[in-house]
Amino acid sequence: MPHLTEIAALNQSTAVLNDFLATLSPSNPSVLMLDYDGTLAPFQVDRFHAYPYPGVLPLLENIQRSGTTRIIIVTGRPIHEVQALLQPLTHIEIWGAHGLDHLLPDGTRRQIPIVPELAAILEQAQQTLKQRSLEDQIEIKPGGVVLHWRGLPDDTARTLRAQTFEDWTLLAQHPSIKLLDFEGGIELRVLRPDKGDAVAAVLKLLARDTPVAFLGDDFTDEDGFRVLSHRGLPILVRDEYRETSARAWIKPPEDLLRFLEQWLHRTTSTNPADPLH
Ligand SMILES: [Mg+2]
Repeated sequence: MPHLTEIAALNQSTAVLNDFLATLSPSNPSVLMLDYDGTLAPFQVDRFHAYPYPGVLPLLENIQRSGTTRIIIVTGRPIHEVQALLQPLTHIEIWGAHGLDHLLPDGTRRQIPIVPELAAILEQAQQTLKQRSLEDQIEIKPGGVVLHWRGLPDDTARTLRAQTFEDWTLLAQHPSIKLLDFEGGIELRVLRPDKGDAVAAVLKLLARDTPVAFLGDDFTDEDGFRVLSHRGLPILVRDEYRETSARAWIKPPEDLLRFLEQWLHRTTSTNPADPLH
């Protein structure tokens, strides 16, 4: 039996989603912001093979082709990794590395540099992992060092987390550095920008009446949800409900596909009241 808050969240979500979808139309520009891992794609032990759920790419291609909606990926990954996984989708706007790196559809790119003091802390974080021979689990990203444990036994993962947490506690005390616990790993990274900053940068240049949604699954998406909550629709995409600043909750992949289908329908059909099927 689902939890009571889960029932409430589900009931509320349907109404909130329908109200939002009703604001979309072929003649009105709209913005669809999407996290990647856990939102568009299921987690994989090999993160370079975490491809989108079947059906997601054709829908995104059609939404992009309609020319009404600006699709924006907001991810913790470096931009080139998401580009590779989203193929054949191209010319897409991506905010990578939690907003440190911004790529526009025309190829224009803007990267925020890391100050040397913070780069030195990240270098130290990397060294502590190497000293424990964890090379295979390390990922170096713009502005961050990650230890991954997806695919490892639970007790190994717990030990790795505890050890790394201890190793990095001192480094994380710097006011411009943070420790991020996420699904399948831990990351030491620069405090800002975060996904909320990326969402805020997008909102800043939009007309007030442009419908905007942001779909995400993880704790790092909550920064984006909070920024969007007064202005658009933040949506939690997750199998299980958890407390969130999002205003709607959908389960992947079925609800996600249905949402994207409805988005496409609303932004392309001259009679959006027509049933989908
Ligand atoms: Mg995610």
